[in-house]
Amino acid sequence: MTARVLVVDDIAANVKLLEAKLSAEYFDVITASNGIDALSIVASQSPDLILLDVMMPGMDGFEVCRRIKGNPQSAHIPIVMVTALDQPSDRVTGLQAGADDFLTKPVNDLSLFARVKSLIRLKMMTDELRMREATGQSLGVLDAGDALASDATAPGGRILVVEDRAAQAERLEETLMPPNDVIIEGNPTEALVRARGGDFDLIIVSLSVQGFDGLRFCSQLRSIEATRYVPVLVIIEEGDTKRLARALELGANDYLMRPVDRNELIARVRTQLRRKRYSDKLRHNFQLSLEMAITDQLTGLHNRRYMQRHLATLLESAAATHKPVSFLILDIDYFKSINDTYGHDVGDQVLKQFAQRVAANVRGIDLACRYGGEEFVVVMPETDLSFAYMVAERLRQQVADMPFAISVPPGSINITVSIGVTASEGPQETAEALLRRADQALYRAKRDGRNRVISDAA
Ligand code: GH3
Ligand code: MG
Ligand code: MG
Repeated sequence: MTARVLVVDDIAANVKLLEAKLSAEYFDVITASNGIDALSIVASQSPDLILLDVMMPGMDGFEVCRRIKGNPQSAHIPIVMVTALDQPSDRVTGLQAGADDFLTKPVNDLSLFARVKSLIRLKMMTDELRMREATGQSLGVLDAGDALASDATAPGGRILVVEDRAAQAERLEETLMPPNDVIIEGNPTEALVRARGGDFDLIIVSLSVQGFDGLRFCSQLRSIEATRYVPVLVIIEEGDTKRLARALELGANDYLMRPVDRNELIARVRTQLRRKRYSDKLRHNFQLSLEMAITDQLTGLHNRRYMQRHLATLLESAAATHKPVSFLILDIDYFKSINDTYGHDVGDQVLKQFAQRVAANVRGIDLACRYGGEEFVVVMPETDLSFAYMVAERLRQQVADMPFAISVPPGSINITVSIGVTASEGPQETAEALLRRADQALYRAKRDGRNRVISDAA
C-alpha cells in the first residue's frame, strides 16, 4: 500500500520521527510545521491522509481540521489527530471538528500503522467511488447526488458484538445504539452462525472471550463468503501486542485497546461502517454498469453490442459442432408515421410492446435484441433456415393480428413488421455475412409490399 501522508506538527523532532517511521514503510511523506502551510499543501498536493498535531501556536489542529473538512475539495481526506495522552477531552473536540481517528503521543508503531492503513484503505475506496460516479454521471448511467454526498446523514449499521462479559457488552451497546443496531453474542459458536446469516455491516470481536480462539474466529470470518467483506474490529487487552499483530495479519481491519475509550470506539466504528458502505456501493455500481452496458434501456432487451459479442461466440461453437445458427432481422413497417401521427412517446410505447411480443415468441436459448431504432434481431442457435422461417412467420402474424395499445385516442393501433431470415452456412460463416444476407432479405420484404417474411434462400 503506497500513499501520500501529510505530517503536521510544530515540533521538528516529532515531524522527523513520524516521517522516518512512515518512509520506512514506503509511504510518501510531506510535512508542514503550522496550520497555514498545512492548508496550502492540502490544496496543492491533495494528500491521502493527514496526521495532525492538536497543539500548535497560531492555528491549532482542531481549526485546521475544521477547515479541511469544511471544504468540499478536501472533506474526503482522512485526518488523524495526534493528541496528548492526558487530554481525553481532545478526542471529543476532535470528533466534533470532523477528525476520523486519534493517535496519542508517544506514537507506537502498531497503532500508527493500524490507523494509517485502515484510513488509507477507506480513502482508496472513496477515490474509486468518486471517480466511477463521475464517469457514471458523465455517461448518464448514474444520478448526481451520490452516496458520498449523503454520507453525513448516513444511518448507522448492523453490528454484531462478540463479547461474553455483560458489563462490557452493555457499555458498547450503550455507546453505539443509536444510530446503530447492535446485536450482542457471548457464545462463540453461536456468533459464527449469526455472522453467517446476519447481514452485518461490522463485527466487533473481543479477543478476551473465555474458551474462545478469537484469532481463529477472525480468520474464519475471512474465509466465509457471507462475511468476507464485512469489516472486523477487535478489542484487545492492553499490552497484548503479539495477538494484536496476528489479528491484523489475519484480516482484522482495526482494533481498540482496553479500557475502551468511548470516542475512539465511535470514530473507529464510523470509519469501518463508511468503508463497508462505499464498498457495497462500488459493487452495486459495478453490477449496474454491467447491466447498462448490455441492455437496451427502453425495451429491456439486449443491445446491439451484446448481440454482436454473443453472435461471434455462437458462430465459433457452431463451427465446431456443425450446427446451424439462424438469424432474423425485424423492421417495423412505416414506423416513422406512428411518431409523426401520435408523437415520439407513443412510438416508444409501441416499441416496448413490440419487444415484449418478440421476447414472448422465441425460446429461452434464443437471443432477442434491439438492434437500433425500430429494428430488432433474433439469434437462434441450433436452428435451421426452415424452422427459423416458421418462427419469423409466427412473429409476423402475432404483430399483425393483435393491435398495440397506445395511451392516446384511438387507444390502439395496428402495425405490421417485415422480417429477413437467414442461417449460417458452414464453419467459415461470419457475423458480418449473416447480417448482410438477412438485411438483403429484409430489403426484399419491404420492396415486395411489407408485412412479410423473406428468407435468404428464397
Ligand atoms: P419502413 O417501413 O421502410 O421501415 O419505414 P419506417 O418509417 O419504419 O422506417 P424509417 O427508417 O424511415 O424510420 C424509422 C423511424 O424510427 C425514424 C425514427 O425517428 C424512429 N425511431 C428510431 N428510434 C426510435 C425510438 O427510440 N423511439 C421512437 N419513438 N422512434 C424511434
Ligand atoms: Mg428502419
Ligand atoms: Mg421501419
